[in-house]
Amino acid sequence: MTPLEKIIGEIIAAEGPMPIDRYMGLCLGHPLHGYYMTRDPFGEQGDFMTAPEISQIFGELIGVWCAAAWDAMGKPAQFNLVELGPGRGTLMADILKAAKVMPGFREAARIHLVEMSPILRKLQKDKLGQVTWHDTFANVPEGPLLLIANEFFDAIPLRQFEKRHGKWLERCVGAEGMGFMPAALDNAQGANGDVIEFAPQRSGIAQEIGQRLARDGGCALIIDYGHLQTAPGDTLQAVRAHEYVAVTDRPGESDITSHVDFEALAKAFIQGGAVVYPAITQRAFLLAMGLEQRAAILSSKADANSREILDRAVARLAGETEMGNLFKVMAATSANLPMPYPFGAA
Ligand code: SAH
Repeated sequence: MTPLEKIIGEIIAAEGPMPIDRYMGLCLGHPLHGYYMTRDPFGEQGDFMTAPEISQIFGELIGVWCAAAWDAMGKPAQFNLVELGPGRGTLMADILKAAKVMPGFREAARIHLVEMSPILRKLQKDKLGQVTWHDTFANVPEGPLLLIANEFFDAIPLRQFEKRHGKWLERCVGAEGMGFMPAALDNAQGANGDVIEFAPQRSGIAQEIGQRLARDGGCALIIDYGHLQTAPGDTLQAVRAHEYVAVTDRPGESDITSHVDFEALAKAFIQGGAVVYPAITQRAFLLAMGLEQRAAILSSKADANSREILDRAVARLAGETEMGNLFKVMAATSANLPMPYPFGAA
């Protein structure tokens, strides 16, 4: 039994079964035993691999996107360059390297990282030096905003409902593992056996960012695995050491996430007051940003072994059956800005 399993068992004994969002929040973010609070989960040795850890090209292309976005914003002399869930800080480091193509960008950028994990904050500091950290986006100071989030929203808890015998029930974790509790959802459409997912915390954050964009001006780029349209389906998953495990297996020791519903996320940004450019696949985004051209340049300077690693990385990031189609990229801006390339261009 993990220490967190014991704590969760005590809460359930005192208060009854808990909805998935509370369970997931504890598993990932419990101050002492939460998954992200106790480890660096990334890389071959860790539990999972993210795009910035696969190749520097990912962050470089996003850096070029950021430089263009800052230009479109009218090159404000000071702006908040915000990253939600920066992991090891690799993406931000590569963004800053690549954005050097735009004179003045680095001097104008005030770097704000939204990160709950003290261990990851330390790794981010090692890589980026002294920047400013926040527990939540709400604490980022006002000012023109350029915001990036890669694999952040999938880690924000969600709720699940399942229709059984004509009634919607909420999925929960109880003393006997996964179970159901009554739900007040009887008007929702669906057939018996359907699972529908709601992520009010995700929508709340997206709406807040939308409000900031509308108030202070700027752009946001959201990258994550997920679907373009809201649809029924159970996408909750737990991963440990690159393998899927049961969500209730060893709480606090596996990464629990779900696919991001980009339609719901877009609605929340719009509700906040931002303009949303519908999500495109990571493949389409990276190819349009020059993935192959950049890889060819790096390749021309590399030895045979590095070239093979590079080819493999490109295939992983953009391959149709790898991350290319599963991951989506969505942009939101304030209403005064033009449509950012490469959105709506396809
Ligand atoms: N963007 C990074 C890491 C993705 S993993 C990459 O692509 O490699 C998720 C990141 O979000 C981690 O840094 C984790 O600690 C952070 N995180 C997860 N939930 C959070 C929350 N509720 N508040 C702040 N940070 C959170």
